[in-house]
Amino acid sequence: MPDSSRVLVLNSGSSSLKFALLDPHSGEQYLSGIGEALGSSEPLLSWRSPGQKHSRQLDGGAAHAVVIELLVRELLEETSLAQGALIAVGHRVVHGGERFARSALIDQQVIDTIAECADLAPLHNPPGLLGIHAAINAFPELPQVAVFDTAFHQTLPRHAYLYALPYSLYRDQRIRRYGMHGSSHRFVSERAADLLGKPLQETNLISAHLGNGASLTAVKNGESVDTSMGLTPLEGLVMGTRCGDVDAGLLMHLGDALGFSLEKIGCLLNRESGLLGISELSNDCRELERAAAEGHDGARLALEIFCYRLAKYIAAYTVPLQRIDALVFTGGIGENSAFVRQAVLCQLQHLGYQLDNHRNQSTRFGAEGRISKDGTAAALVIPTNEEWIIARDAASLVERGD
Ligand code: ADP
Repeated sequence: MPDSSRVLVLNSGSSSLKFALLDPHSGEQYLSGIGEALGSSEPLLSWRSPGQKHSRQLDGGAAHAVVIELLVRELLEETSLAQGALIAVGHRVVHGGERFARSALIDQQVIDTIAECADLAPLHNPPGLLGIHAAINAFPELPQVAVFDTAFHQTLPRHAYLYALPYSLYRDQRIRRYGMHGSSHRFVSERAADLLGKPLQETNLISAHLGNGASLTAVKNGESVDTSMGLTPLEGLVMGTRCGDVDAGLLMHLGDALGFSLEKIGCLLNRESGLLGISELSNDCRELERAAAEGHDGARLALEIFCYRLAKYIAAYTVPLQRIDALVFTGGIGENSAFVRQAVLCQLQHLGYQLDNHRNQSTRFGAEGRISKDGTAAALVIPTNEEWIIARDAASLVERGD
């Protein structure tokens, strides 16, 4: 593979398309951007190349294919990309069901399987396919690679992925826990093993990806053995607008006693709950920290519940792991919120965690490092980089040609 090789990484949502052009070896980004409000009357494209930021209003109704066409026609030229340097397009695909335990070169069979998994991720897989089809049209000569959010968690043992429901629901309908954020948990696990100076295959970690969506993963000898998201991204931790774990009986109560429709319940649990729902103020952790400091009781309570649930989950993962080499914080909140990290570690002192205040306060804005005192249980901050994992997987599949 030439040293100058580049991979274009695409992450398609229903009305957005994020893209990044990067070197799969060094992770250096040459171009990154997002098309937003796609399909609406005012779609917007914004992008940055080293030292420069741009944005452009697109024609009303413009969708994924238009963004990719612009990428091909103008943006890639802007980075003076040498002919032939672009070796692959890597796609983030949310759900690979039980069919994909690793990334895959895209052919018709892979496309069909992603479509079959769409009933498990109706909001995510169809836009992923839109991006794949648009990229195949734009780059018919390039290999396309799918990198699945669920793949890293395919090592979960049965006792961790099965719900205590009638077994036929798993056998016939594939209803089980799949987990998400796999590329992020995988990236920070590899980096944590490097920082600890241990082979990944001998490293036990708890990885906390805390962004608008949040999930916790127990990594044993480099493999995911439990994770907090389930069939859907709704299970587990408290998130920006999602509730995480609730009593399943709540759903019957909302329907029967309060007359809520399924659609209304879905909206309540996914978009109106979590930090936003409790605080009645915002889903943004920064804003809640500011408001809590000024005495806003809802903000204080939302952060308290968020941190308590997280600490409780971390303690629970001592069961599958027994020995923990490091607890890793990542994602927008994990990387930046000294407040959340402190509140969580304070509740885990019985597990040997002792915060180093200076390290905790100074580790943010893309910095990585240890935030617990030397000689106590290791807590690390590691900025995630899902684009790099996607680019690396794409490059290595192309290199191996399988
Ligand atoms: P997404 O899941 O959308 O990728 P991110 O990983 O970008 O989300 O995380 C977004 C969250 O990170 C928001 O709640 C935001 O408030 C929080 N965040 C970002 N910077 C800070 C900061 N300096 N302090 C506290 N929280 C922050």
